[in-house]
Amino acid sequence: MRWPWSSQLVRLENTQADALLQDLLSRDATRIVDAARTVARLFDTAVLDALAPHVGRIESACAGIALGGALLSLKTHLEFALRRLNYWQARNGCLCALNPHYPFFDPRRLIEQGQMQLLSVDDAEDGWGECHHVACTQCGQRWQATDREYHYPWWEWKVT
Ligand SMILES: [Zn+2]
Repeated sequence: MRWPWSSQLVRLENTQADALLQDLLSRDATRIVDAARTVARLFDTAVLDALAPHVGRIESACAGIALGGALLSLKTHLEFALRRLNYWQARNGCLCALNPHYPFFDPRRLIEQGQMQLLSVDDAEDGWGECHHVACTQCGQRWQATDREYHYPWWEWKVT
């Protein structure tokens, strides 16, 4: 079967979106995973707008590429990056609704980036780690994000 996209080089005007797209279409596992980690945490609406229409092309280009990973399959990053682009493309609502579906949203980083506003910090209910109570600065939804650790650090997000 002929590779459907092979003869079509797509370039985007937005330079960050273009760099990410070229990495995601590269069929090079390292470049794909690095770009997918960035897209998974992307909030820049101009970059999301530029990339989202190409989600089908990215999915096809990445199909069947072994991305590796030991404790955590690196495919997790790509799957979530594609989910984020599909969600954005469908205009399904605020991006914060995706927070529970990717374990690497560190509430402290989202507060620094202005995506979340800190309300308070407690000990987690089970005594392990901290629980950040935050509110989304885009839609006002309140969340609690609790530090977890199971082979690697992650955060559990729950609507409050
Ligand atoms: Zn929100």
